[in-house]
Amino acid sequence: MKKTTGLIVLAVLLIVMISGCRTIENEKIKVVCTTFAAYDWTSRIIGEDNTDIDTVLLCDSTADMHSYQASADDIIELSLCDILIYTGGQSEKWVSDAVASNEKAEIINLLEILGTSAKIERHTEGMETGEHSSSGHEDTEYDEHVWLSLKNAVLFCNKIADTLAAADPKNSQLYLQNAKQYIKELEELDSLYQSTVTESKKDTLIFADRFPFVYLMDDYGIKYYAAFPGCSTETQASFETILFLAQKADELSVNFLLTVDGSQSAIAAAVAENTHNDEMQILSMDSMQTGGQQEIQQGKTYLSVMRSNLDIIKTALD
Ligand SMILES: [Zn+2]
Repeated sequence: MKKTTGLIVLAVLLIVMISGCRTIENEKIKVVCTTFAAYDWTSRIIGEDNTDIDTVLLCDSTADMHSYQASADDIIELSLCDILIYTGGQSEKWVSDAVASNEKAEIINLLEILGTSAKIERHTEGMETGEHSSSGHEDTEYDEHVWLSLKNAVLFCNKIADTLAAADPKNSQLYLQNAKQYIKELEELDSLYQSTVTESKKDTLIFADRFPFVYLMDDYGIKYYAAFPGCSTETQASFETILFLAQKADELSVNFLLTVDGSQSAIAAAVAENTHNDEMQILSMDSMQTGGQQEIQQGKTYLSVMRSNLDIIKTALD
């Protein structure tokens, strides 16, 4: 009797395994994205009515990628995905580690696509540098905010479309067609940025905050000053930094100070207080480092954020 039971158990296990394999074969292609921007690009290229591909936004929380804590679910998603789209920088080293055991995954590394045009985190005059001098390491740190350039987005969308077309050949024409249409929209907005900046009276922005916008500023030759480089975790600016930014604001007759993602307004307020401008206003740009399903449901898209950012730049440079 015992032997028979054992055989039955074995048979059931085999059936489960075989049917399990079949289910996996029939399952949708799974794309994992670590950033809101990549998730939105992929959704546009896949198309609204396409149910053959399942797209997951990994870092779907209010924590930005620099302080993100991976969950067990994230590790499972990475070990099962067919396509991974990630920035490939320092903050996402855990992603590289987690996907290493997944042999079937096609990996799209955005910094790698940029190659030699990937930018090193920029330190400009007046920025707080405490973090770097104290850490002591001399490693090259790339600026990971690669999605904040419409020109980069065009490169990335082409790569995403080609990868989807190869993974799902029966829909390849759809992906290439959708990408073509979307890239047209990206290029139109890129032209609008260029003409807006060209026609602006001013040429310099002052960020009383962190500075994740180096790709965007460089695309149109906008000059800038900022309190901290990249996405420094520092929240306290020295009085020296505040005074430096206030003096620049006066020198350039600036009427608007910028912050990032609605944060750090205390520094901006301190800078404003130290200028001679009694009507200084503070505006906030969105760097798309946080944002998840809730914002997506409310209609937030990569293009809608980049349009709002252009409105702010236009106001600040006027
Ligand atoms: Zn950042």
